[in-house]
Amino acid sequence: MTLAALGDWLKTHQPGIRRLQWSVVLVYALLVGLPAFLDLPDRAQHLWNSLTLFAQFVFWGLWWPLVLLATLLLGRVWCGFLCPEGMLSELASAKGLGHSPPRWMRWGGWPFAAFALTTLYGQMVSVYQYPKPALLILGGSTLAAIAVGYLYGRNKRVWCRYLCPVNGVFGLLAKLSPLHFKVDPLAWGQSQERHQPLPSFNCAPLVPVRNMQSAAACHMCGRCSGFRESVELSWRSPFSEIVTVAGHKPSSWESALILFGLMGVALGAFHWSGSAAFIALKQALAEALVEMGILWPLEATAPWWLLTDYPQLNDVMTILDGVALILFILGLMLFAGGALAVLILAASLICGTARVWRSFHHLVQALIPLAGAGVILGLSALTVSILKSEGIVLPAVAEVRATLLGLAALASIHLGWKILALYAQGWRRLAAMAPMLGAVGLGTAVWGSLFWS
Ligand code: SF4
Repeated sequence: MTLAALGDWLKTHQPGIRRLQWSVVLVYALLVGLPAFLDLPDRAQHLWNSLTLFAQFVFWGLWWPLVLLATLLLGRVWCGFLCPEGMLSELASAKGLGHSPPRWMRWGGWPFAAFALTTLYGQMVSVYQYPKPALLILGGSTLAAIAVGYLYGRNKRVWCRYLCPVNGVFGLLAKLSPLHFKVDPLAWGQSQERHQPLPSFNCAPLVPVRNMQSAAACHMCGRCSGFRESVELSWRSPFSEIVTVAGHKPSSWESALILFGLMGVALGAFHWSGSAAFIALKQALAEALVEMGILWPLEATAPWWLLTDYPQLNDVMTILDGVALILFILGLMLFAGGALAVLILAASLICGTARVWRSFHHLVQALIPLAGAGVILGLSALTVSILKSEGIVLPAVAEVRATLLGLAALASIHLGWKILALYAQGWRRLAAMAPMLGAVGLGTAVWGSLFWS
């Protein structure tokens, strides 16, 4: 079967995809919902005799890293074929009120704001460790997706397009996917001129398909495959979109998501629990409070839906812990994201082009491989630690991590070099590569310090 035929096969097998989505809804409800109503496992229980531990491992240790990896390799197939939120939102929208998405919903900052806030809140309530916060965050997100679907759009996925907290991250990773639906606008126009009556299709995530050049918003559902003989599932170089398309519409919010979201908030979320700097910050805050005679933040706690609160497992965050956590993650976000931004701005200025901000936003996109690999490796650290606590030691973990991080750094260097060629030649291109190498080196070092510090 050719790739184009595979795309057409997806189009003609939508009922089968819908059944697959329903089965994922059931598994999702079981893994996310049921453990929240069970007693927390004690230390004698294991993956194989505790649904809570099993669900934690499957959901955070396998499911999420694989979803990110699949998006990187195959585009947003998770969104198109499997995601329960997208499917339920689209179903609700089929029966809903059909309003147009309001202006506030179309604000370009949502992908960054929703990702940063959800990640921060997830750490405050220990979403990876406990089932109630997982149900609150993921179940709450599913209910919001259904409500938005009911209110806005007709047979659409307005939630996925504008508000889903991982929409921005999935969009960035999909830009590297070697698989995409390629559109030939010329063939589309010629077909229109022939005035042939054609069956229409429904692009649920509201992609303007005729002009689609990026895989970022496409859910790979295949419904447009073969339309006007101009849409085809195809291979491409994983670097082509970032080099040739990503510079057309520079987006400050996308740059913020890469620099301060993935290389900042996500980095801080993986780092804080094992960080000596976090302990030092907490001690400094505690000493300052004691000196001022304000002692209650050192002892006061909050309900589990605000701060981690499981006294039966000796896992409780005080108000001081919570404040230190927020300050640490925001501090790391400003330090890492800010330093990367300065280095890339320097590269952009060295280019000497009048389009400084355009080249800056374009060059930031070169960090997507590094940011994506970091988040995947960060999540997979949970996989490794859960298995280790069960006595299962995976072989060559350090070597695999070093290889993936190294490959991602090389991909970012390659992208930086290619993008610079669009803005500078000769010595300027070479000189601008120095701060780009600095940015890639810094990014590699901060992710590497998660495993080798
Ligand atoms: S452009 Fe829309 S209809 Fe076509 S595959 Fe992507 S999501 Fe589906």
